[in-house]
This record gives sequence, C-alpha cells and structure tokens, in this order.
Amino acid sequence: MSTTKIEWTESTWNPSVGCTKVSAGCQNCYAECMARRLCAMGKKGYENGFKFTILPERVKLPLTVKKPTRFFVNSMSDLFHEEMPFEFLDQIFETIKNTPKHIYQILTKRENILQKYFCNHPVPDNVWLGVTVENKEAKKRIDILKTINAPIRFLSIEPLLDDVGQLDLSDIDWVIVGGESGPGARPMQKQWVLDIKDQCDENKVPFFFKQWGGANKKQAGRTLLDQTWDAMPNSPKGQLPLVLDDGCLFARTAAAPMGGREGCNVRVRTQE
Ligand code: SF4
Repeated sequence: MSTTKIEWTESTWNPSVGCTKVSAGCQNCYAECMARRLCAMGKKGYENGFKFTILPERVKLPLTVKKPTRFFVNSMSDLFHEEMPFEFLDQIFETIKNTPKHIYQILTKRENILQKYFCNHPVPDNVWLGVTVENKEAKKRIDILKTINAPIRFLSIEPLLDDVGQLDLSDIDWVIVGGESGPGARPMQKQWVLDIKDQCDENKVPFFFKQWGGANKKQAGRTLLDQTWDAMPNSPKGQLPLVLDDGCLFARTAAAPMGGREGCNVRVRTQE
C-alpha cells in the first residue's frame, strides 16, 4: 500500500503491476515510466519491469489497514488486463468484500473484460467502477460500464486528448477531468474541459477537475474559472453510506449541491 499524490484518492493498492498499451491514452503511460524506474532501483515487485505480473503476497494487504481508506486499485496496472486470471480477481474481490470500511476505486481501459468478469460476479457495495474516456473513440466504454450494476460508476476523462463532444451521463455518478502531464504531454484545451463541466452541471453529475497537466503540472495547477472543483460522487439512489475517516459516515444526498468545490456529500456522526 502506498500513499499517493493522486488528488481523488487516498492510497493505492497494486495487487498486480505492469500492463500493455491499449488505446491513445496509454501513449505516455505514467505507470510504465515509473515501473521501469522502480525496476532499475531493484524495488520489490518490479523485477519484471512493466511486464504484467500478479503479486499474490499483496492480495490481503488492505486487511492490515485499520483506518477506513479510499484506495485506488492498481495505479500501476490495469486490474482487467488480458493476462489477469479470474481466480486471482476472485481473491482480490474477496479481500474487498471483507473490508467494508474501505472504498475501492477501480478504473480500467478494458471494458470488455470488466463486463465479462461482472457477468458472473456481483460488484461489492464498497466498489466504485470507472472507465477512462480520453477521446471520442473511448466513449464506447461508457455504454459497457452502464451494463454493470455498480454502486458508483465513474468516468476518468484523463488524459483529455480531444473534444469528446456529447456524453451520455445518465447513470454516471462522477466525472474526473485532467490533462496529460510529463515530457511530451499532449495539450488540453480549456474549452474541452468547460464543455464537459457544463454537461456535468446539466446532468447534476459531480465534477472533479484534477489538473491542467503539461510539462510542469505543478506550475499549471488545477484551478478552473478561478477555483478548484473537487466534487465527489452521490450514490445512485442517494442512500449508500460510506464509512470514512474520523468515525463518520458520508451520507450522500441527492438534495445536496453538486459540481461545486464543496462537493455533494454531507458528513454525519455515527454510533460506531
Ligand atoms: S491501461 Fe493504464 S496502465 Fe495500462 S498501459 Fe494504458 S495507461 Fe498504462
């Protein structure tokens, strides 16, 4: 488990590492660059560089974390990679089911394998499922995501490479937008971001603006229209409570404001 600078999560859990490129969004893959660096440093788990590798010794790690935590599962891989054995996915989801105090954010560019796995498996209540939508072509992933009955469905529109046009945001609970960062980063136009934000506002979908990106992402920052946009999901029915840190529940309410920097969640004290 690792702490992370990714703005929309709290920690990362990588029961597999390594991947292969599947679409335009993969061109400057951060995980590839990092895996090769960690391999050169002799870091455990990265002996195979960026080759897809399952790490069974990590599968029960969340059981050792006492504090309720929001985990991004596989920041260094794709959980639904072609070489991922479904038996190993079963073990991962067993850990997820056995740790209801945690939230698991799972993002993939392999929507067909995601669908195939969840044909025969229920999605645990503490899982948020998302797909990457980096350009118009990747919008087909949204329709597949909607076929899966997940408590939260989200879109990561990062790296935003193109004007994605009209999005069908019905049954989508959260949208993250961000530009590519690092050497060779492909530029993102402000109007593309504003168009997505407008659609989120119209559809009352929480909008999270992660970053402008570019060669110096720190300098480019993450403000849009002079503020940050850090909204988090409502549950589909406005009912699903999320246990978070400091002994509180996050009670999501459809009546709360959405799309603003305060997000759309109301924190309430629990008896637990
Ligand atoms: S799917 Fe993700 S981890 Fe895999 S190559 Fe593409 S960007 Fe990298």
